[in-house]
Amino acid sequence: MPSAPDSAPACEALFARARAVVPGGVNSPVRAFRSVGGNPRFVTSARGPYLTDADGREYVDLIGSWGPMILGHTHPDVLAAVSEAAGRGFSYGTPSENEVALAEEIVARVEPVEQVRLVSSGTEATMSALRLARGITGRSRVVKFAGCYHGHVDALLAAAGSGVATFGLPDSAGVPASAAAETIVLPYNDVAALEAAFDTDGEHIAAVITEAAPGNMGVVPPLPGFTEALRRITREHGALLISDEVMTGFRCSRAGWYGLEGPYAAGAPDLFTFGKVMGGGFPAAAFGAPAGLMAALAPDGPVYQAGTLSGNPVATAAGLATLRGCTDAVYAHLDHAAKTIADAAASALTGAGVPHTIQWAGSMFSIFITDRTVTNYDDAKTTNAPAYAAFFHSMLDQGVHLPPSAFEAWFVSAAHDDAALDRVLAALPAAARAASESFATIAP
Ligand SMILES: *Cc1c(COP(=O)(O)O)cnc(C)c1O
Repeated sequence: MPSAPDSAPACEALFARARAVVPGGVNSPVRAFRSVGGNPRFVTSARGPYLTDADGREYVDLIGSWGPMILGHTHPDVLAAVSEAAGRGFSYGTPSENEVALAEEIVARVEPVEQVRLVSSGTEATMSALRLARGITGRSRVVKFAGCYHGHVDALLAAAGSGVATFGLPDSAGVPASAAAETIVLPYNDVAALEAAFDTDGEHIAAVITEAAPGNMGVVPPLPGFTEALRRITREHGALLISDEVMTGFRCSRAGWYGLEGPYAAGAPDLFTFGKVMGGGFPAAAFGAPAGLMAALAPDGPVYQAGTLSGNPVATAAGLATLRGCTDAVYAHLDHAAKTIADAAASALTGAGVPHTIQWAGSMFSIFITDRTVTNYDDAKTTNAPAYAAFFHSMLDQGVHLPPSAFEAWFVSAAHDDAALDRVLAALPAAARAASESFATIAP
């Protein structure tokens, strides 16, 4: 087991090179390790449950590319499908059969969805779903929940303070106040706040968008009845409900979070967004709904939406092979692997005297270093970030790559076998002690 903490000269050299030509050295901010400190690992290859970095060190991967790698890295069936597709051309700019097959696979899994439009990223999916909802309702405002992430869409990059029914303030420079002003940000799991917002503003609200089960403030599942309330209240006011399943889709179950919690007595969400797993590690995402709603999209309807690489034949081949590989046995294994890790983490943290809460959405889980139950973003922010950073780096030094942020889900795959799980389990006690020591020296 490597012992020199954070010694990764080749990765450091690559990071220095990267910083010269890429802002912050990364193409997506969380990869820069800012919230845990230290230098990111530059990965040179990935197989099964493992990542190998430029220094030749191997890690058990608990990021899984933030969800897509549900079968493990370089799964032979997916690799074969991708190679076969690539051999027949990379992109046509015309329709092709793989797109149809992927759409059929999604529609077969998520009962309320009759049609999907394929796009290239989760951001595009939520952006397009929002435009569709606005086009259908003729209204402009949108409700989102603090701590929910829906990609970097201007109107959805508002998280605002924790005040009830605050109008969105941009969360990022470059988002005009006018874009965020149409966004109403509410605390998650708060039905009264939602009712109040609709009482004041209901006739202007096009849609409520929610993560089906939030995973982007750490895992914070909806409280019993919350999703039903979203459905009931939106319907009463003629607004649409957009369930963002970009992270949970095809991961929490065959039919995503909907498959675990639905069907709902109050009715299904109107629009769904998907990404991550359905691309199998390639750029493919989708938004979908009953055919009557999707008819509003061009070329049939007035809502414009398009994409040069949408439905790309290689990406759709990867997504299709991945979804077809997601059998009941795979979901059972994900549950087992996640529970094995979470149980061991809980006992290590308890043993080291570190307060913690483990929360679940299917096999997605995260560990908050806090003594409270986390039902919204304010609760999530009580997690002890320095203690998580200490925990993270201890795990990294011991060859386990956790998400480099305290506000992320941990992802397992079908390839996390006993050997990989044993490595994780062996690393946990020392990491829990590191968290405990940081706790002693840094006030939460
Ligand atoms: C990852 C994610 C997105 C954005 O997807 P990208 O492919 O990164 O643009 C949107 N919504 C949720 C819930 C996500 O987890």
